[in-house]
Amino acid sequence: MQQNNQRIAYFSSEIAFDPRVPNYAGGLGVLAGDTIRAAGDLDIPLVGVTLLYKKGFFFQELTADGTQIEHPAHWAWDDFVKDTSTTVELQIAGRTIKVKAWEYQHKGISASIPIVCLDTDLPGNSDYDRQITDFLYGRDNEYRMFQELILGIGGARILDALGYNIGKYHMNEGHSAFIALELYRQAKEANPTFDPDALLHVVKERLIFTTHTPVPAGHDKFPLSRVKSTIPFVPQEFEADITQDGMLNMTLLALHFSNYINGVAKKHGEVSRGMFPGYPIDSITNGVHSATWTSLHMQKVFDKHISGWRKDSHSLRSAANIPKEEIAEAHKLAKEEFIEFLNSRKNAGFDRDYFTIGFARRATPYKRADLLLSDISRLLNIHEHIGPIQIVYAGKAHAKDQSGKELIRKIFQIREPLKERLRIIYLDNYDMISAHLLVSGCDLWLNTPRPPMEASGTSGMKAAHNGVPQLSTLDGWWLEGYIEGKTGWAIGDTTPGDDLSHQLSLYEQLEKIVPLFYNQPDIWTDIMRTCISLNASFFNSHRMLQQYVANAYIK
Ligand SMILES: *Cc1c(COP(=O)(O)O)cnc(C)c1O
Repeated sequence: MQQNNQRIAYFSSEIAFDPRVPNYAGGLGVLAGDTIRAAGDLDIPLVGVTLLYKKGFFFQELTADGTQIEHPAHWAWDDFVKDTSTTVELQIAGRTIKVKAWEYQHKGISASIPIVCLDTDLPGNSDYDRQITDFLYGRDNEYRMFQELILGIGGARILDALGYNIGKYHMNEGHSAFIALELYRQAKEANPTFDPDALLHVVKERLIFTTHTPVPAGHDKFPLSRVKSTIPFVPQEFEADITQDGMLNMTLLALHFSNYINGVAKKHGEVSRGMFPGYPIDSITNGVHSATWTSLHMQKVFDKHISGWRKDSHSLRSAANIPKEEIAEAHKLAKEEFIEFLNSRKNAGFDRDYFTIGFARRATPYKRADLLLSDISRLLNIHEHIGPIQIVYAGKAHAKDQSGKELIRKIFQIREPLKERLRIIYLDNYDMISAHLLVSGCDLWLNTPRPPMEASGTSGMKAAHNGVPQLSTLDGWWLEGYIEGKTGWAIGDTTPGDDLSHQLSLYEQLEKIVPLFYNQPDIWTDIMRTCISLNASFFNSHRMLQQYVANAYIK
């Protein structure tokens, strides 16, 4: 595809390359990992670049009242990554920072994909500099700026030092946008006679930018004066384009220097065009890696009926011909395993026959984890008079997100007096391993973001791979994936709606869904099968990466 052994450099501040490695915080990192996994199956020549966070994101402890405590997540990094013995030295902020490359190899079905992990914990670096790569999303804004300088500038230079021949650079979110300044510096050095617009053109040919969130906190900003005193090569001609109120905006930097830009669902493309008028923002809807997110029981069913599905997720389309009983049985086994885990490890007291609702995502207000609990008497009425239910929550709040943490405590508070009547559990330390159990072991996947805040969302796609339908507000990927009563259900409609209208719609839908589950198993298994044949066959990372290849990488 690329000439001369060229590779696409895929930059991401987090990459979930192994479920045991806490080098990710949530959706962004899991998506990056699923992208690498797709590249390994499809033999797309990518090289991943990220930081080696020796203290990880964090381990979430929840106290009895639901207070979140963050612990460093230590891991045996030397078991996973290999020493390349390659280092580069960056002249930053008037000092030299040494950066070392470790390498992880993802062995896919068709190819091995390297991931370069950058590390500043090296003798010779100052105490502060040695800690730059310790924590994912830790500490203050200055620390974040240093991390992003290491990722963007250190990453670009270390790829050269490692001998990679890079065609294009794909920035997965704006954290790595300093690449643009490094490529601009290199272009200027190589073409001293070019004017700024010609140099801009040279850089744009090589840069691809994927934006991931309409939430303002997701767009990093650093004081321009601080950036300029740290790296001496911010091109003055473009300062105005990338700065707002004296702050260099990493999203604007990435937008201004990229030829191909995309949002992560059709709706998110639209929302992003509204946020950043004047930039040609396309969309490529996210997907998940099918084999990674399908339970072993469902994998066996796919192996039996759909040849080649691991290498070509589109072929999950023919799940429409799998006998329904086999899908129902595979789900039953996955659910039993999940409930067994909840009961024996978490003392949940769950019933393996009850209708089980799952809600797992970052705890932050716009995701409205508490919407399901907003009218307890109506919820209890469903449980006691329509059909028994039980509810599993999981999700971390960012360390500085006080309202996210408050939300977790609120769920604990609501749950406490209900204990004898309705089982609700909040699973601690949501990660890839518990996510795998959750998305395959629940009967219904619930998602309640306040539109249009959810760029895409991916956990509902994981659920679809396991034949688990979703009930969600119409936002992100669900606008493309929902067919009412066939692949799941909508909360509210495509008008914005408010909390109250969504609350009413949520309960109305549950009052229809719960009887369907208990009284019409044949229709229910039909829905499960349709989730796989219509949604798993499309909302997967094979299709997603192929769209990046066609629309961005080979342009
Ligand atoms: C898939 C996943 C996410 C992202 O889920 P969303 O639906 O996009 O919020 C977050 N954390 C973990 C551990 C995951 O596996």
